[in-house]
Amino acid sequence: MIVHWHRRDLRGADNVALAVAAERGDVVPVFVLDPAILDHASPIRVACLCDALADLRAWYRERGSDLLVERGDPAAVLVDVAERYGADEVRWNADYSGLAAERDRAVSAALEAAGVAARECRDELLHEPGSIAPNEGEHYAVFSYFWTKWRDREKRDPLDPPAADALADVSGDRLPSPADLDFDDPEATPPAVTREAARERLSTFCADDIYRYADERDYPAADATSRLSVHLKWGTVGIRETYAATADALERADGEDARASVEAFRRQLAWREFYAHVLAYNPETVREDFRGYENEIEWRNDPEELAAWKAGETGVPIVDAGMRQLREEGWVHNRVRMIVAAFLTKDLLIDWREGYDWYRRKLADHDTASDVGGWQWAASTGTDAQPYFRVFNPTKQGRDYDPDAAYVRRYVPELADATAEQIHGWADLDPAEREAVAPDYPAPIVDHARRREAAIEAFERARGKSD
Ligand SMILES: Cc1cc2nc3c(=O)[nH]c(=O)nc-3n(C[C@H](O)[C@H](O)[C@H](O)COP(=O)(O)OP(=O)(O)OC[C@H]3O[C@@H](n4cnc5c(N)ncnc54)[C@H](O)[C@@H]3O)c2cc1C
Repeated sequence: MIVHWHRRDLRGADNVALAVAAERGDVVPVFVLDPAILDHASPIRVACLCDALADLRAWYRERGSDLLVERGDPAAVLVDVAERYGADEVRWNADYSGLAAERDRAVSAALEAAGVAARECRDELLHEPGSIAPNEGEHYAVFSYFWTKWRDREKRDPLDPPAADALADVSGDRLPSPADLDFDDPEATPPAVTREAARERLSTFCADDIYRYADERDYPAADATSRLSVHLKWGTVGIRETYAATADALERADGEDARASVEAFRRQLAWREFYAHVLAYNPETVREDFRGYENEIEWRNDPEELAAWKAGETGVPIVDAGMRQLREEGWVHNRVRMIVAAFLTKDLLIDWREGYDWYRRKLADHDTASDVGGWQWAASTGTDAQPYFRVFNPTKQGRDYDPDAAYVRRYVPELADATAEQIHGWADLDPAEREAVAPDYPAPIVDHARRREAAIEAFERARGKSD
């Protein structure tokens, strides 16, 4: 018997460790509800997890096996499962975030002390940390260099799911619900985190939308992105099968523009891997600035402004639309993630860690590496980050990327009857005009031009101190 420990790889197909275990046969699949992780979880993430576990369990049951779902410290639980089933090996797929790596070392030690082999496979990324690196140093700090190498490297093919007869005849207890785990219903309606939903997203996107991705991906109202992030986060889709679908799309592409659009999508997959590499070598950047401004930026951290940002009540329409999309869907369009993050860290001069913590709580696709990477990019403290003096102007961003204000109107009903010009010119309307157009929508809580200057000064002071 061999145990496969599922973590963020909640699928049977295109799963490296599971495929390797299945070569030996008699695989006992297990998921461990770890209290140390649940302590930091949020209602939306637990809802997604329970959905994905139920789906994976059904998949195993259709094959005459079952997914065991155990609760407790993984080191103790896995030794117990191995002993219970007489397994001499436990396998899993590597997770590169700092805390996971620490936990895995403890699990390996406990298994080995109990005479059970512990083996880790590489599954989550197309190219592992360390495999794409500069001549000197462990990882690239500039994305464009990383991308060129990543793009040209050969990629692995997707893996078949294990045959039913390679799975052990086991049966697990009832799956706990979010309420059993002491979690309330999430504020947002969670997306379906199932294999069918993932396959459907991937095939629909790669059949058609991928060819307009390059032109439309920056326009939130167009809904032109793949929405695969939640599936890549929970592992309801594999990265090799995702890449293979882009290869098929490339073959079918009609013309240079269509091919370039597929390439633009692959570039985003490479950003995911770039940030995973950065975090793998710099686990402390979950809390610390990558650029060493640490403790030097004088964040204002005004609690009322932070509360207005979280509630989507800043009086800056594109920011409020983004923050409300987050509350309603547990997902936000990438361009808008950048806009709201820039607004928090520059206009409000609030520490990026506040924003990160809120995203971590509210996002269904929260991924430590991409989330920290995105926040530190926006805060100008990260790798290959936005320069601190190039402050996003939210009004201009709104005009450029939501010209008809369709996205704003979708999420800010108070502005449903306002024209695009009134919405994008909201900061310039006088109070009487604002009252006439949308009496329930607030005036902007800050003056962008003034706050921009204050932010640049704060960053210059911090740079002066850290030099
Ligand atoms: C402040 C901030 C926080 C973010 N937090 C997260 C997070 O917690 N989890 C997360 O998956 N992404 C995060 N991102 C990146 C990006 O916004 C999302 O991956 C994207 O919006 C997901 O939608 P999609 O699947 O439709 O993306 P698509 O545009 O269809 O892209 C395809 C895939 O590429 C990857 N990708 C795309 N853009 C990025 C990017 N900028 N950085 C890293 N990977 C990318 C994702 O895996 C995504 O699913 C964050 C970005 C910012 C600016």
